[in-house]
Amino acid sequence: MSSKIELALFGGAPVRSRPFPPYQVIGDEEKQAAARVLDSGVLSRFLGAWHADFYGGPEVQAFEREWADLSQVRHAVSVNSCTSGLYAAVGAAGVGPGDEVIVSPYTMAASATAALVFQAVPVFADIDPETYCLSADTIRPKITPRTKAIIVVHIFGQPADMDPIMALAREHGLVVIEDCAQAPFARYKGRPVGGLGHMGVFSLNYHKHIHTGEGGMVTTDDDRFAERLQLIRNHAEAVVERKGVTDLSNMVGFNFRLGELEAAIGREQLKKGGALIAQRQRNIAYLESRLQGLPGLAMPKVGAAGDHVYYVHVLDYDEAKTGVPRALLVKALKAELPVTQLREGEGPLMGEGYVKPLYLLPMYQQRIAYGRNGYPFVSPFYDGNPDYSRGSCPNVEAAHFQRVVTHEMMRPGMSEGDLDDVAAAFHKVWAALPELREHSDAA
Ligand SMILES: *Cc1c(COP(=O)(O)O)cnc(C)c1O
Repeated sequence: MSSKIELALFGGAPVRSRPFPPYQVIGDEEKQAAARVLDSGVLSRFLGAWHADFYGGPEVQAFEREWADLSQVRHAVSVNSCTSGLYAAVGAAGVGPGDEVIVSPYTMAASATAALVFQAVPVFADIDPETYCLSADTIRPKITPRTKAIIVVHIFGQPADMDPIMALAREHGLVVIEDCAQAPFARYKGRPVGGLGHMGVFSLNYHKHIHTGEGGMVTTDDDRFAERLQLIRNHAEAVVERKGVTDLSNMVGFNFRLGELEAAIGREQLKKGGALIAQRQRNIAYLESRLQGLPGLAMPKVGAAGDHVYYVHVLDYDEAKTGVPRALLVKALKAELPVTQLREGEGPLMGEGYVKPLYLLPMYQQRIAYGRNGYPFVSPFYDGNPDYSRGSCPNVEAAHFQRVVTHEMMRPGMSEGDLDDVAAAFHKVWAALPELREHSDAA
């Protein structure tokens, strides 16, 4: 008994109970920027009409120029969330009833809802098991005569392998939208994401690398897409006539406008982004050096597709090598680790899998989106029948239900001492694998 490891899961002392430091990236620079806006009295200067103020106030326009320069694209169009940016991008692409949009099932729900908002049908392609992103090989079999666009998600912070995807899209005349919410400023073959496809969409919500509380940005090199994004952002239907816009498809406008306060804060965040991302990469290098050699645990593979900016640290767990079910292992790890300040309610920032493959959500399983008669999955405009069945994307199901362990305990603000505690929890749990195996046999 004396040699037994006293796991916190079974009542022993945890590796650490003192909370991890918060991810606090708002400082004096943001305070001064916000004060500048408050002093000006102009909290927004958008006008939903064809007028000089159709494009918003000075902070919004400056933020957009600075973002476009950094992303090496011609246009950046700010929006009030990545979700609204995705909606605007799908609308700008001309997607409508009867169309299909191919999308990853391993992402935040909004990536796919964007297709439904324009009454198209999301078709889920499987992920590549190494990058967890769509690949040309998984997209190709899902292309039909109805396919209009592809939404590629650079999930966890690593770009998808975009060159083959763009070649496939060109072959079939498809619009490619990059969901860059988790990978701002990540590079693919030296080029920043957001300019690899036809449009790129970014998030500025408070979970993301840089943030304005809520907010988003859409990037594009295409003048026509930029104009359509601006119209959808700001009451298109009321603007097209005076602006002389003749293509009325999807010119049903929303109010997706970003405020001057958020834009001013975003301009300061933009200056800090590079250093914040470098800190994440250093933290991961340090942590991974301490997690080497644990049987059944593999670090994310980075290299072939591009660099990695680590929104989430995604570990590949092989239960066959340890004999301990993933659920029990994660429970044991979480019991050793503390919460993170400012996000206490979420518990230790670690989990089994990520989000459930999207096609398993009730909306897709029951095919009820608008009203209750199955529209747009069942509609006179639509003659397809997408496969939302369990088993339809085996790679994402294996990743989510069996292999993936994710955590966020590498954010800037974590010191080497904090990271040592994270590593110590892993080593303690691995040292106790024999004991955990007994428990899983009993279970
Ligand atoms: C966060 C996130 C979104 C949504 O961002 P919001 O700004 O909160 O709307 C979309 N896609 C992915 C992959 C995300 O991580």
